[in-house]
Amino acid sequence: MKRLFSGLVAAVLALAAEGLMLAQTNSAAGTRKVSLTKSGFLAPAGTPDAQSHNLDIYWIDVEGGASTLIVTPSGESMLIDTGWMVGDRDAKRIYEAAQKAGLKKIDYVVISHFHADHVGGLAALSKMIPMGKFYDHGDTIEKENQQWLDSYTTASAGKRTIVKPGDEIPLKGVRVLVITSDQKIITKTLPGGGPNPLCADAEQIAPLGNENQRVLGVMLIYGKFKFLNLIDLDWEKEMELACPVNRLGTVTLYQTSRHGAFDGAGAPAFLGAIRPQVVVVNNGPRKGMGQVDNGVKSITPPGTQITPYEKVAYLRLAKLPGIEGIWQQHLSLLDKDPNHNTSEDMIANLEDGPADKGNGISASVGRDGKFTVTNGRNGFSKTYMAH
Ligand SMILES: [Zn+2]
Repeated sequence: MKRLFSGLVAAVLALAAEGLMLAQTNSAAGTRKVSLTKSGFLAPAGTPDAQSHNLDIYWIDVEGGASTLIVTPSGESMLIDTGWMVGDRDAKRIYEAAQKAGLKKIDYVVISHFHADHVGGLAALSKMIPMGKFYDHGDTIEKENQQWLDSYTTASAGKRTIVKPGDEIPLKGVRVLVITSDQKIITKTLPGGGPNPLCADAEQIAPLGNENQRVLGVMLIYGKFKFLNLIDLDWEKEMELACPVNRLGTVTLYQTSRHGAFDGAGAPAFLGAIRPQVVVVNNGPRKGMGQVDNGVKSITPPGTQITPYEKVAYLRLAKLPGIEGIWQQHLSLLDKDPNHNTSEDMIANLEDGPADKGNGISASVGRDGKFTVTNGRNGFSKTYMAH
């Protein structure tokens, strides 16, 4: 009996040593019946998310585009970006996620900027589900993207608001603060911000296109939980937000900018300032994380002894002080090295082509700051506490 007991203790200790993850997989499997839905998200059997009274965030797999659906405890909803056009694949995935969340309409639609991977799905989606108000950075765009502004103008007719940094999107029950818009950044420093020692001798990277710099980026605040989503904002703008003063303080959950393509985003001085607890990488199988961007140019003044930094995106995140979890929409098929991707349990899609099921990642956040992130592929989940 004693031997059995100590064997059990050893097993438990071994599990603990492996990290909390294994233990939580077991308990998740033991206590929650999960069912796979068409939307690529797993739902606890008989518990519609709409009734959870949590803040729910769904990262819809739009294959290296962006689409994030947010449903507040009161049932109001906000969709940030709509993925690609690609037939109506992404519009359908977003619609199915909205159905699963119990939504009859989407109250607020934010289009971060006018690029194909962010606004492409809007025209089709706007025929599938009613939409309330629209928010964007304004009419200045890159000429080659006129079609995306046009499709947005049609979908948002009569319901459009152009926002500037410091404005708020009136999603009930949470605070949605505009951090960046139309190449401007928030001018006041948020609680927890201040001088940033990581700025000295930091690498400087040239701007990566005007439209990426115009991104309408937001911070969503719900009690202690802070979700930062700056979409495709580039390294140069991140440095403006973080140097010499970190304007944002720290955040709980960070959606990687530029889909995790960290040649031109994820500036170490920025990441080290916001110090996310949990990260969701909205990469595609061959886009974002793992990608090498040859268009990225250093503009660090000659003679600067640049502070050395990790070049591999996953490792740059994994080495951040205080990081508790990194989740990926896709395994990077451009760099499949297991050491350059998070643990397989925390990756929603492992393949591309027909085998790619478009599984999502979701987070459910309680009023007390406790939140659970779930992988739509396998039901693996992990619970964290915002601090
Ligand atoms: Zn993008």
